[in-house]
Amino acid sequence: MKKIAILGSTGSIGTQTLEIVRTNKDIEVTALAAGRNIDLLERQIREFRPKLAAVWSEDLAAELKTRVRDLPVEVLSGMDGLLAVAAEKDSEILVTAIVGMIGIRPTIEAIRAGKDIALANKETLVTAGHIIMPLAEQYHVSILPVDSEHSAIFQSLQGGQEKALHKILLTASGGPFRGKKREELEHIQVEDALKHPNWAMGRKITIDSSTMVNKGLEVIEAKWLFGVTVDQIQVVVQPQSIIHSMVEYEDGAVIAQLGTPDMKLPIQYALYYPERRYLPGERLDFGTLTQITFEKPDMETFYGLKLAIEAGRTGGSLPTVFNAANEKAVALFLDRKIRYLQIPEIIQACMENHRNITDPDVEEILKAEQETYEFIKNRW
Ligand code: NDP
Repeated sequence: MKKIAILGSTGSIGTQTLEIVRTNKDIEVTALAAGRNIDLLERQIREFRPKLAAVWSEDLAAELKTRVRDLPVEVLSGMDGLLAVAAEKDSEILVTAIVGMIGIRPTIEAIRAGKDIALANKETLVTAGHIIMPLAEQYHVSILPVDSEHSAIFQSLQGGQEKALHKILLTASGGPFRGKKREELEHIQVEDALKHPNWAMGRKITIDSSTMVNKGLEVIEAKWLFGVTVDQIQVVVQPQSIIHSMVEYEDGAVIAQLGTPDMKLPIQYALYYPERRYLPGERLDFGTLTQITFEKPDMETFYGLKLAIEAGRTGGSLPTVFNAANEKAVALFLDRKIRYLQIPEIIQACMENHRNITDPDVEEILKAEQETYEFIKNRW
């Protein structure tokens, strides 16, 4: 039996992870954490019987505790709850399916407790990759990518020729507004931006995909995961989302991973790595597939991507500011408090305002996050 814990079990990645657990009968769930959705968390506790559950809000945790008092499960709340789930003593792998920088401390806690990390929570690596990656090495734990592109890169690197890696070709669908110019995005509403052409995901990452900020975060994520420079990563728009990413080796050979857009593949690959298992679902049909096309990303319209590349190249605390500004701007957009085009405007203003710290520790990262939020609060 493989034992896992999940941060963010009620979200898009969390529920798909549990679908894999349901299908394969050899994974035990030892701990679950969620934000506010205690109805779903209660159902998950009843089905998967973890020993520990955590809910962010103290009140909701108290309510959940009452609801599941017939079961032998401990219920905790707040950051203590997340840290306890992350380091739950019996689990071997922590799936970080929580959204945002809140994942930093629990991820560090899990690594220190010797857990492998199936990492979906890219914001943690974007902001604290310089802490997470050396720590993982120190504690001999694996960081297994869940993000589909990074899983594709990881799969393309199997064969052990990582030293001969020349460049990463990170594919992007281009999102729902591919081909549009900035003036055409003036009146985009929340509903428009939440319609992704190929992938069904959580709200924040869906907006990030539409602005191409998600691709920017993925560039920085790839830099840390695969130990390359930002300049070794080329973003390639591949609108059908069939090629999930590619690597080019020193001899010019390009190896890619292709498949239908289904997050269960990378999640399952991370959970069972290096084993491959049967996964039900649609397959690519080369009898009917007529074309796979490529485009250059439009970094003028979607300049959030350009800003991310700049933040990734500079490093230090700038990626934190990029990420925190985006998290807040997306939340404001989803609350209909700002216009769509203000998302990259806010990110840019925050980055310009920031005095970079070269090698920030966790406290300094969290301080840079708070200062970014304050800066935004006083202006938008
Ligand atoms: P969702 O919004 O669907 O889910 C987020 C999860 O995090 C929910 O379970 C939510 O709980 C939980 N959560 C949020 N805040 C807290 C908190 N303070 N304490 C505890 N739990 C919390 O997000 P996704 O699943 O889409 O994304 C998760 C991560 O994976 C993100 O970093 C995203 O970038 C990354 N990712 C997602 C992909 C996808 O296909 N969805 C693809 C690749 C990467 P609740 O709902 O109960 O409040």
